[in-house]
Amino acid sequence: MKKGIKFADPAGDYIELKDEIDAALLEGLEAGDYIRGKPVEKFEAAFAAYLGARHAVGVASGTDALALSLRALGIGPGHEVITSPNSFIATAFAIALAGAKPVFVDAREDTLNMDAGRLGPALSKKTRAIIPVHLFGQPADMDKILAFAKKHGLAVVEDACQAHGASFKNKKAGTLGDLSAFSFYPTKNLSAAGDAGAVVTNNAALARKVRALGGYGSLKKNIHAALGANSRLDTVQARILAIKLKRLDAWNKKRQKIAGIYDRILSERKKIRLTKIAPGRDSVYHLYVVRVRDRDRVMKILEKSGIPSMVHYPTPIHLQPAFKYLGYKAGDFPVAEQSAQTMISLPMHPRLETGQAEFIARQVLAAVGER
Ligand SMILES: *Cc1c(COP(=O)(O)O)cnc(C)c1O
Repeated sequence: MKKGIKFADPAGDYIELKDEIDAALLEGLEAGDYIRGKPVEKFEAAFAAYLGARHAVGVASGTDALALSLRALGIGPGHEVITSPNSFIATAFAIALAGAKPVFVDAREDTLNMDAGRLGPALSKKTRAIIPVHLFGQPADMDKILAFAKKHGLAVVEDACQAHGASFKNKKAGTLGDLSAFSFYPTKNLSAAGDAGAVVTNNAALARKVRALGGYGSLKKNIHAALGANSRLDTVQARILAIKLKRLDAWNKKRQKIAGIYDRILSERKKIRLTKIAPGRDSVYHLYVVRVRDRDRVMKILEKSGIPSMVHYPTPIHLQPAFKYLGYKAGDFPVAEQSAQTMISLPMHPRLETGQAEFIARQVLAAVGER
């Protein structure tokens, strides 16, 4: 049938822009300014401007972007940070990395984003921040989350690692909280050729702190004011990111078009549950996730038709061995746990063809026994 369907296509982004990227990289290799410096500043300014934010600070990864944001806020040992159990594990690792304790609230059934209505019971005297995750490219319920944070004096750090270019009521994801974290891991909507990330904020003091913490705790040569990390963006990645940024909107539109095809063919089916996009939100479809019964069997059938699919993520964070010490158990977050058993991520990238998307959707229908 349809040949060569890829789940994601990181090399394809490069190949579309090969001439421009090759030239920029050669120039950069000869210039010898490999860490931070002008190309990094240029990308940071362009990325902040794209989002409509004041500051972007390049760091080594999305995980570091989250952890350094928390540290810049003064959050660490003895503090709690509320987040989602159905995210990539790095969201919770970043909290632990900063020295604080992750506390989870379950997801909403329809969007799979954080259920803001459940924040109350998660609050304690130690709570200092909330990390809403804009899961699969759809902004979380920021009005309710920001109102709750304001009422209780909490900071909000957006995990925008899957949401480059997404918007909430016409504001870009990553500009709504105190700080936000982006990852440029190779399969993200905006991607480096390796690990990279950025912190975005409108607060100049916080931006300075993040920059210092990512550069050995130093803003002035040989003065190390804080226990810093080595977490910096390099010029190779910055040059690639600056070039790809110009294509981000066009690539996101292509993802949205594929999502539209999936929606049209798969919606209102008894045996398939789609991920709802709530009013006022534009998803950039980092992933397109459906829920079906008998998920593993459906994935095997798809594989036989040459359709790669994945699960994001098969084990909720609170049930991962690394977080056993938190004392959570199965049954604590039913939506996260049930969705972990039924979710399938379908192929999604800017070069997926209309015909391929239609074929994939029809094979999903066949696999679940719908027509
Ligand atoms: C990718 C991702 C991260 C971590 O980013 P890295 O660059 O891999 O460290 C964190 N949170 C979410 C939701 C992600 O998708």
